[in-house]
Amino acid sequence: MDYQLILHEIYEIISAQKDRGELASYIPELAKVNPDNFGIYLTTVDKNEFGIGDCYTKFSIQSIAKVLSLSLAYKILGEKIWVRVGVEPSGTPFNSLVQLETDKGIPRNPFINSGALVICDILVSQLKNPLQDFLSFIREISDNANVNFSKSIIESERSVGYRNIALCNFIKSFGNIINDPDEILNFYFSMCSIEMSCQELSKTFLFFANNGFINSGNKQILSISQTKRINAIMQTCGFYDESGEFTFKVGLPGKSGVGGGIIAIHPNNYSIATWSPKLNKKGNSYRGMRFLELLTTNTQSSIF
Ligand code: GLU
Repeated sequence: MDYQLILHEIYEIISAQKDRGELASYIPELAKVNPDNFGIYLTTVDKNEFGIGDCYTKFSIQSIAKVLSLSLAYKILGEKIWVRVGVEPSGTPFNSLVQLETDKGIPRNPFINSGALVICDILVSQLKNPLQDFLSFIREISDNANVNFSKSIIESERSVGYRNIALCNFIKSFGNIINDPDEILNFYFSMCSIEMSCQELSKTFLFFANNGFINSGNKQILSISQTKRINAIMQTCGFYDESGEFTFKVGLPGKSGVGGGIIAIHPNNYSIATWSPKLNKKGNSYRGMRFLELLTTNTQSSIF
């Protein structure tokens, strides 16, 4: 497959069309990003790499980091984590509080904010130096010591974090947050502030396409079964209440973030990161979704 040519052709098509998205403005710092950034990077399991556009510029990966926190919690605690968080799509916006009341504080899945907060609570309980240990985990799987949190994004999100603060306290009232909510929120905002380029993101997530192995197949981060399961949750819950639409149009597991990034996995083939900051009404990158739809359509290759 000539991925460089395919990426180039799709990039040209989409760049020529109007970008119908809007910048995420509810986090002030995200509204300052140049909306015209558009980058793509694809890494294959046999270590070929293809990039185009602004693929080396770092951006805020936001909710994409929830896949990495889930991976670390799953690696440490195994199946026990599913007592505290479900694996069903919620069909509600990512920051919704409504289901928690009837579900008695057990979030539907780990990729909505409520579920991610519970995963943060697990990590804060399990790790000695939670933020440092989490960062070390990401640096290990990405083989990249330059990955870091962004102080300005953390403070910007904290300044408007009313819903996340409400979610964390609400879950605490049901007993499904063990630690101090302030500590959990600090971990959560820091996790969401991580910055990576498309190149870094696609390389970091390659192990999901590679049965859980990093470093040319030498070290296994997650078992084959755990890798399958996280890919399955990305497939069913990775795109807010547009996860069905993404599956329908693209047919790959993936995860989006309100910074405009998307990671998608073609198991045993490749991982691909896209970045275009303008979001559609459901909070997913407008151009990123279009790009991935054309990629799986033109290559006639998805998981289905
Ligand atoms: N930090 C963002 C929030 O909690 C993450 C949202 C996202 O990327 O989906 O609002």
